[in-house]
Amino acid sequence: MYLVNVERHFDAAHYLRGYQGKCESLHGHRYQVAVRLKVNGTDETGLAYDFTRLKKEVDVLLERFDHTCLNEVEPFREINPSAENIARTVYHGLEAALGKLPAGAALDAVTIWESPDSWVEFRPD
Ligand SMILES: [Zn+2]
Repeated sequence: MYLVNVERHFDAAHYLRGYQGKCESLHGHRYQVAVRLKVNGTDETGLAYDFTRLKKEVDVLLERFDHTCLNEVEPFREINPSAENIARTVYHGLEAALGKLPAGAALDAVTIWESPDSWVEFRPD
């Protein structure tokens, strides 16, 4: 079994509604995003999943968040753009974008770093 990982990033502003503290004010992050696929085997070229293809799919998805105020972008008009909610949103968006993965492959987890020492991993179980 292989765990295939790619990392990307995007820059955005956000604020947390109802948070008692600094994060209630508008501020920015360079969000680091890690996506992990779980794949049972390799194809005839020896790849479990093509890194380039996965990076492209992630980039397409993150494009709508890059250089925005996340609170003005769906679904964060209604729910707080916390790292937890961003990770879950990216997970489900990517799950839909990847469509039918090859047999034995599944999206495993999405991790979002708000800073080098603060991150959240989302897995659906
Ligand atoms: Zn923040």
